[in-house]
Amino acid sequence: MINIIGGGPIGCYSAALLSKNNEVTIYEENKEVGLPIACTGILSDTINEIISLKKDFVANKIHSARIYSPNKKIVKINFKKPNVIVFRNKFDQYFRDKALDNGARINYKTKLVGRNKVMNLETRKKKKIKSNKLIGADGPASKVSQIYGFGKRKYLIGVQALIKKKNDNFVDFYPHIGTYAWAVPESRNVLRVGVAAKNNTMKIFKSFSKKYTGKIIGWQGGLIPLHEPGLIATKKNVFLVGDAAAQIKNTTGGGLVPGLMAAEELKKAIDKNKDYDVLWKKRIGKSIWTHYFVRNIMNKFDSEDWNKLIEMFSNRKMKELLSKESRDKPIRILMKAFIHNPSILLFLRKLM
Ligand SMILES: Cc1cc2nc3c(=O)[nH]c(=O)nc-3n(C[C@H](O)[C@H](O)[C@H](O)COP(=O)(O)OP(=O)(O)OC[C@H]3O[C@@H](n4cnc5c(N)ncnc54)[C@H](O)[C@@H]3O)c2cc1C
Repeated sequence: MINIIGGGPIGCYSAALLSKNNEVTIYEENKEVGLPIACTGILSDTINEIISLKKDFVANKIHSARIYSPNKKIVKINFKKPNVIVFRNKFDQYFRDKALDNGARINYKTKLVGRNKVMNLETRKKKKIKSNKLIGADGPASKVSQIYGFGKRKYLIGVQALIKKKNDNFVDFYPHIGTYAWAVPESRNVLRVGVAAKNNTMKIFKSFSKKYTGKIIGWQGGLIPLHEPGLIATKKNVFLVGDAAAQIKNTTGGGLVPGLMAAEELKKAIDKNKDYDVLWKKRIGKSIWTHYFVRNIMNKFDSEDWNKLIEMFSNRKMKELLSKESRDKPIRILMKAFIHNPSILLFLRKLM
């Protein structure tokens, strides 16, 4: 019996894959999959390597982005392959349906509260669960990670509003506001506007969102874990996947593509009795390490550094690079950026 704690996209995808050869049960504390939403839902075209996109959950496709610098310089990028914006509730439910079709079971309103112990949140009754394998897919504040001693995590806090506003279908990205800030079009009439920061996120959001005045039709927020290279995701028969394992890009907070890829490696590891930590690190380790490394440099940037970096990327070849390459393959971006403009290495001084 495999028990999965958390019916988010990564837990449901893990269940869908594993239930082909195993008996799988998901325990989800909420009353349904996909709500409440705390996500912008932007995915690079790398998502196409994992699933075929369905009209059902695709809200929008984006062909262009603007990156803003403190001195108000803007770099415009046209993506060779569009980014996809998803409705997170429907996206998560797509994976839930795959899990159910393959024979997995879901217990809703049931929360992991202790070692092998879940509580029915309606009756408040606790019961023991028996697991041959236990998977923590329970998000950034993972209880599985806490109970089984996987170590402390660091986080950003993300705040996002849905704002009714006509727009030109560009993603706007502000790498110097908070830890980063964004405005992403859900449609030509609605923007998902947000900020991620270590502290004072709401204060930063209030000031930032003045750039996007309009009727606020929804609020979302949540923790964004920070990846750290030393983290492991396996202890005997306990495995972490997705945000629970901090398998995320620290420069953008994108956790969906790396988490889904890690779920595929988890399936291989369990079905073929291989080392999960080796497999997921081989598949996504270098990519998320690169985001971690770049983030650490950027954390030390002042306005002048941002102005310089964005100026570098306003050059035709550098813009082309950002247009062609997926941010899920950051090593290629860095290598090519270095070839086009070796002075980018000067930013390494920030680490000293
Ligand atoms: C503001 C914001 C914007 C973001 N934007 C993007 C984006 O544009 N693109 C992107 O790729 N990523 C984005 N992310 C990150 C993305 O949302 C996560 O990487 C993704 O949700 C991870 O999925 P998961 O299944 O691992 O965890 P979650 O989606 O957090 O799912 C975990 C599930 O576990 C359940 N759970 C938790 N504890 C327990 C328990 N004790 N017992 C039972 N169930 C439990 C929860 O209810 C939840 O359903 C964003 C995050 C935030 C906060």
